[in-house]
Amino acid sequence: MTGPAFVEAAGSVVKDIEQYYSNLSSRPVLPSISPGYLQKLLPSTPPVQGEPWSEIEKDIERTIMPGITHWQHPKYMAFFAASSTYPGILGEMWAAALTSANFNWICSPAVTELETIVLDWLAQILALPDVFLSKGEGGGVIQGSASEAVVTVMVAARERYIRRQLEREGVTDPEEVEDRSCELRGKLVAIASAEAHSSTKKGAIIAGTRFRTIAVHRSNEYALTGDQVRTKLEELKAKGLHPYYLATTLGSTNTCSVDDFVSIAQVIKEYPNIWIHCDAAYAGSALVLPQYQYLSKQMAFLDSFDMNMHKWLLTNFDASCLYVRKRKDLTDALSITPSYLKNDFTDSGLVTDYRDWQIPLGRRFRALKIWFVLRTWGVEGLQQHIRHHLKLADLFAGLVKGRSDIFRILTPPKFALVVLMVKPKNTQPKLPDVDGGDPRPYQDQQNPVNPEVDDEELQKANEITKEVYTRVDATKEFFLTASVVSGVY
Ligand code: PLP
Repeated sequence: MTGPAFVEAAGSVVKDIEQYYSNLSSRPVLPSISPGYLQKLLPSTPPVQGEPWSEIEKDIERTIMPGITHWQHPKYMAFFAASSTYPGILGEMWAAALTSANFNWICSPAVTELETIVLDWLAQILALPDVFLSKGEGGGVIQGSASEAVVTVMVAARERYIRRQLEREGVTDPEEVEDRSCELRGKLVAIASAEAHSSTKKGAIIAGTRFRTIAVHRSNEYALTGDQVRTKLEELKAKGLHPYYLATTLGSTNTCSVDDFVSIAQVIKEYPNIWIHCDAAYAGSALVLPQYQYLSKQMAFLDSFDMNMHKWLLTNFDASCLYVRKRKDLTDALSITPSYLKNDFTDSGLVTDYRDWQIPLGRRFRALKIWFVLRTWGVEGLQQHIRHHLKLADLFAGLVKGRSDIFRILTPPKFALVVLMVKPKNTQPKLPDVDGGDPRPYQDQQNPVNPEVDDEELQKANEITKEVYTRVDATKEFFLTASVVSGVY
């Protein structure tokens, strides 16, 4: 494709993208095809001769669109938002145009330096504690996903724990270090609330350590507390295990629960070798609003904090913003410099090589789209965007509460998430409404609702909720997400 042909093709693509967004609501949110549909529409062998763009372009609508779930659709209410904006798209276009691997500062200094600047801006916008700014010992790095961020910090946590333990034991002989490290790894355990995202368990699998959860309860809105953490730590230590990583959550996937950072910070002071991560993948965006920034102030005890701009902050996938209190913790664990990666700038210690803050070597120029987004909206625009979504959630929750004969809200709506279930007809379900609709005390404050318990009413409620969900899903008019929280569908 020549330059002039590119101009023509790109012009046509940009026009089609604009049309796609302008007419999105006229498409069904969910595809109606069956698995394997694309095999039937595309040849089974690769093209022998090249084709003109005009031919390739036609196949977007013919073959790809029928298999697209439209995440930007107004009737898409599943999982979490996946931001897409025109400035974000423009950032992606430039990043593609400037394609480079960007692992070291010298690979493209602007890529590294812009990343440091926009992440410092974002930390200020979210009112994160100064420990996460690059001017001190910390700093931010853009990862592809919150899960990738978890694996990255878990490996750093594991290595830091082992290093400190071996220092305490006075082990220095390289072979002995290796033997003892392997021995210790088998005893390391990562812990998280049972409501933490599955990426924590996956991270522990990848890091080759154990993983244990702490049950959390509806009576406490599924928040993890310091006392629960202490009990778990003592139990694990009594078994001869070494807790090395604690996952906390700001906005859990099922109910957007927020862990009790203040009490956890108090308890964890006594365990300085445990790495504390906060997963704020979705709800971290809400910290742009002053009303939520009391939470930012509680984050100073964390070793790391991660939020996805690609979820709720107007930035196209992927833009997971990871902050660490001590960047040295990452580089100590992840920096390996063979001769081909050496250069004078790295040796000078004056530059950041983000390859040492992540698992892959190469990296995309993701800072560009963040820069475009932050400049297009400004802090006030971002705040307005989140406020608007919170208002929509309030409106929706109000509508649900207005039909308390049919629906029950499971936990108080948090951020823009409303979790509801359907009430079975002619029954008095034991699960009370969260906001005083039912005067009886919570059914079982100490024990979470257990699916194994032969609770006929709960079974009925679950069945009818599932049926309603399945029917809504079958219409393909709305896309919602179903989940099970402590046995409640
Ligand atoms: N953490 C939470 C709280 C989430 O809700 C999700 C996904 O929805 C993730 C982590 C995983 O995010 P990612 O897809 O960026 O790995």
